[in-house]
Amino acid sequence: MRLKDIYNSDKTQISFEVFPPKGDDKAQKIDNLISELNVLKKHNPALISITYGACGTNRESTIEIAKRIKNEVGVIPMQHFTCICSQKQYIHDYLKEIESMGLENILALKGDEPKDNLVCYKDFAYANELVQFIRENSSLDIAVAGYPEKHPTAPSLDDDIKNLKRKCDAGASVIFTQMFFENDNFFKYQDKVRKIGVNLPIVAGIFPISDYKQITKIAEMSGAYLPKMLTKLEKYQNSKEDTMKFSIEYSINQCQELIENGVSGLHFYTLNKSYMTSEIIENLSL
Ligand code: FAD
Repeated sequence: MRLKDIYNSDKTQISFEVFPPKGDDKAQKIDNLISELNVLKKHNPALISITYGACGTNRESTIEIAKRIKNEVGVIPMQHFTCICSQKQYIHDYLKEIESMGLENILALKGDEPKDNLVCYKDFAYANELVQFIRENSSLDIAVAGYPEKHPTAPSLDDDIKNLKRKCDAGASVIFTQMFFENDNFFKYQDKVRKIGVNLPIVAGIFPISDYKQITKIAEMSGAYLPKMLTKLEKYQNSKEDTMKFSIEYSINQCQELIENGVSGLHFYTLNKSYMTSEIIENLSL
């Protein structure tokens, strides 16, 4: 099923994000991931997205996991793809490869500048150029990234939204947002996106926090706005159990408010675990 058809109703769709595990015991970790997804399957996810390592590192695992999600879990996979380190010919061949696997959707991203000594090509300056290339060279449905609290490199939220419009005009079907914790920021963002003339579905990124230190690091990298959330979480930082309990409750309230305001989708950053995401969804009136 294609993104256009998945997000074609008033119902809030549930979806999950996973990442390809690394390390010597990678095969075992991928098996564990598939088991976790088989637990999450009971929530009828519209799709499961699989991240793409910076500059295509771990690329084979992204493909393997997508195949297993399709064949073993029986849910639609959506691969992320970043163009920052790829040449046009490579991307062309990659698109053909994933189409030949029967995959219909892709999340098209620029990706971050590599920190290591990885070769970085400049065939594409921004994600809107990648969207256009995918549109011209495949029949995949395309999702793009949106940043309710602004991409860290954008001079302003309004500039970032103008650039979001370029990606949408180039042929995207849906917007998946960066994680956020303050719904007001999401609602303001959605209003601005609509005002500029973009009417695509906007899927909200939900991050259930299990570890105080980890979230401060992730927020730093992503530019997510966390002050209020961190103040609330601070007192639980020495107990993983209390952090998770607080975060589950917080996410239930956050998601419920989004649903009541007609959000197109909730995309859970699962970190490859089912427990917190399941606890949240079980307590939602969808
Ligand atoms: P762009 O849309 O190109 O935007 C990047 C910056 O350039 C923004 O500041 C934007 O305002 C500006 N800009 C855009 N177009 C133009 C233009 N034409 N002219 C001038 N300025 C412009 N990273 C990974 O490595 N792997 C992943 O799997 C991954 N998955 C992600 C999933 C989601 C839902 C999100 C929100 C992010 C994800 N990222 C991932 C991170 C992402 O790659 C980085 O945030 C990256 O820096 C930006 O990618 P983009 O596609 O949003 O870029």
